[in-house]
Amino acid sequence: ESLDKGLEKTNTNFFNKLGKAMVGRSKVDEEVLDELENVLVSSDVGVDTTVKIIDAIEKRVARDLYLNATELDKILKEEIARLLNATQPDTAQGYDLPKVNGPYVILVVGVNGVGKTTTIGKLAAQFKKSGKKVILGAADTFRAAAVDQLKLWGERTGVPVVSHGMNTDPASVAFDAVKQGVEQGADVILIDTAGRLHNKVNLMNELAKIKRVMQKYIPEAPHEVMLVLDGSTGQNAMIQAKEFMRVTEVNALAITKLDGTAKGGVVIGISDQLSIPVKYIGVGEKVDDLQVFNKYEFVDSLFK
Ligand code: GDP
Repeated sequence: ESLDKGLEKTNTNFFNKLGKAMVGRSKVDEEVLDELENVLVSSDVGVDTTVKIIDAIEKRVARDLYLNATELDKILKEEIARLLNATQPDTAQGYDLPKVNGPYVILVVGVNGVGKTTTIGKLAAQFKKSGKKVILGAADTFRAAAVDQLKLWGERTGVPVVSHGMNTDPASVAFDAVKQGVEQGADVILIDTAGRLHNKVNLMNELAKIKRVMQKYIPEAPHEVMLVLDGSTGQNAMIQAKEFMRVTEVNALAITKLDGTAKGGVVIGISDQLSIPVKYIGVGEKVDDLQVFNKYEFVDSLFK
């Protein structure tokens, strides 16, 4: 239900336009497919992924002679689910933390303003609620506000935050966070980082150093590098993701601000084009507004 509410704007967009595409028509013809293409592109699915979906639908329409809007919805849903299937794990429950030796370390990356700190705060709350011992590392030392904000989330959720203040060495913060996590028997450590994508070489070196120092304590760390993207920026989020993937290895995505946008289709394009699982979606500013991404629910909610 909260997913439907969170994706309200995207749904309204899909549904209204899709409905309009079929008004006064009894079969799926060229015009309907053109209209559908417009709907997908304007929902920010992205051109390449849209072409894939339209091609697949064209083939099926020719073969199965789907005639009405309900049937078109059905095949559209199936084709979108097929694209998500390629990257999303086949679980309805979503994710649990994999069993590792010692704490599970998540390095959280992304440019400023995308919702990194908020996502970390929400995750900390969720992990804590499920009985996990959590530690946060404030390694976004570039902005004073970032450190303060993470501390605030720490207070709010009752989770300790390791911080050395502003302009300190991010790697040293990460080192201490992992050290404390190991010593205190934490289950999960979340490290916030600065995302200065305009300064790629610095960012690359900084993230490499952060990884190197934490590996002194946990050789496999970070177990996860989670890139946070602002879904309301549509195709820009995709471009940003591609740039980030050149700076560091990324193996999980969180897409935020899907509540404020009609561009929720970007989740489909990103899953298809980047082949990195979308683990979480943000649908609001409050602590409970982070959801484990479930491809089945997502596709369903797009057509409600
Ligand atoms: P950071 O600079 O990447 O750490 O971004 P912040 O965590 O500071 O978030 C920037 C702004 O986006 C804040 O005002 C957050 O409340 C807001 N925000 C984060 N996630 C979401 C979301 O899922 N939905 C909405 N509507 N706002 C969000």
